[in-house]
Amino acid sequence: MTQSTSHADVVIVGTGHGGSQAAIALRQQGYEGTILMIGRDRAPPYERPPLSKEYLAGDKGFERIMIRPESFWADKQIGLRLGAAVSAIDPHAHRLTLTDGAAVTYGTLIWSAGGDPRRLPVPGAVLPQVFYVRDKADADAMMAALAAGARRAVVIGGGYIGLEAAAVLRKLGCAVTLVELLPRLLARVAGEEIAAFFADAHQRHGVDLRLGQGVRAVLGEEAGRVTGVRLESGEEIACDMVVVGIGIVPAVAPLIAAGAAGTNGVDVDEFCRTTLDDIYAIGDCAAHANPFADGAVIRLESVQNAHDMALVAAKAILGRPEPYHALPWFWSNQYDIRLQTAGLSLGHDQTVVRGDPASGKFTVAYLKAGRPIAFDCVNTTKDYVQARKLLESRVGRIDPALLADPEVALKDLA
Ligand SMILES: Cc1cc2nc3c(=O)[nH]c(=O)nc-3n(C[C@H](O)[C@H](O)[C@H](O)COP(=O)(O)OP(=O)(O)OC[C@H]3O[C@@H](n4cnc5c(N)ncnc54)[C@H](O)[C@@H]3O)c2cc1C
Repeated sequence: MTQSTSHADVVIVGTGHGGSQAAIALRQQGYEGTILMIGRDRAPPYERPPLSKEYLAGDKGFERIMIRPESFWADKQIGLRLGAAVSAIDPHAHRLTLTDGAAVTYGTLIWSAGGDPRRLPVPGAVLPQVFYVRDKADADAMMAALAAGARRAVVIGGGYIGLEAAAVLRKLGCAVTLVELLPRLLARVAGEEIAAFFADAHQRHGVDLRLGQGVRAVLGEEAGRVTGVRLESGEEIACDMVVVGIGIVPAVAPLIAAGAAGTNGVDVDEFCRTTLDDIYAIGDCAAHANPFADGAVIRLESVQNAHDMALVAAKAILGRPEPYHALPWFWSNQYDIRLQTAGLSLGHDQTVVRGDPASGKFTVAYLKAGRPIAFDCVNTTKDYVQARKLLESRVGRIDPALLADPEVALKDLA
């Protein structure tokens, strides 16, 4: 059987934050060519952050996490091909092959395929009550297990997604044990003060924290039901569901196979161009030299990065290139705690705490050679807003004593 071939001037792979925003930005910037979005997910474009927060908790239904109402895409003449994955790219013929055998040719390609959850590499990890949190289908499967009576959860991974899932599961009345391989929480993304604060908050909410502990196996009955988790120490923790949040693997295999450069994701320049002609990459999978990391080549996994890169790619496609220089920012909600992060703390050599963590409201400033490079703001939105301005102004050295004084507004330190 011969499969169909279709064409669009701009083809976008991935219907997540970056892909959707790229299509929206192209239209907003006046692009009149044909646009087709191809996405593996069957659901129309939706926001991912609520999957470990309000959506999982049942506080927001799907229609409230959709990026745009379903009719929007047709109204803007943006084609949506859902439930379709790209398996190969021929960069010379400007041609994509889909897993169902269909072909799509493109004038320009924007790759925004995000990442796949890193799988737990232990026996038993394929049991049906072992859940990841990346797609709507993952959250739905977890919610179905909860509705079917799961009440004891082991969360593996003490990063933001694991912590958010733990907070929601506690709110829903589950007994929660959280296992983290490293000696503290949030080791990859936040300083020790923030880690200690969240460890304390989760313990106060009844989470049994196991830090510095590896997982040896997920245990189950022959019928396939999870019954527990065995730690490296040999201890067994009984549970009826396991939630894994141990990071992602960038979804770039077809691009790399087509010859694009990249080791951790796919390499892009300041205009989000890959090393292949007419192929851009944005979002979680795009490795770039970030000016807020002193030019280090990094990937960022945040809505900010996906959105801002989408705009950069759209402008470059329209012939009005502007380099990617946006300030990184991020947020996380757990219980009644709202964390807002501005900048990147990577490489900091000093931290300064503003306010008293015991009060539940405080800010941590991260400094490198005396210069603030990032702020973690816990229930201190005013600090966050002013910190963003401070970082955007590329402020120089600041006296740590002034930074530490909550009576001194950050905006007055610019
Ligand atoms: C549970 C959760 C909570 C989060 N919370 C926050 C938060 O609080 N704040 C924050 O800033 N960020 C948060 N993030 C991160 C943020 O959602 C991501 O950084 C953002 O979604 C990245 O956008 P993206 O377009 O790169 O990838 P995605 O949004 O992941 O979209 C990629 C899409 O590509 C599809 N795809 C993959 N391979 C193919 C293929 N071969 N063919 C076709 N389609 C393909 C995928 O199915 C997916 O739909 C969270 C992420 C998760 C999973």
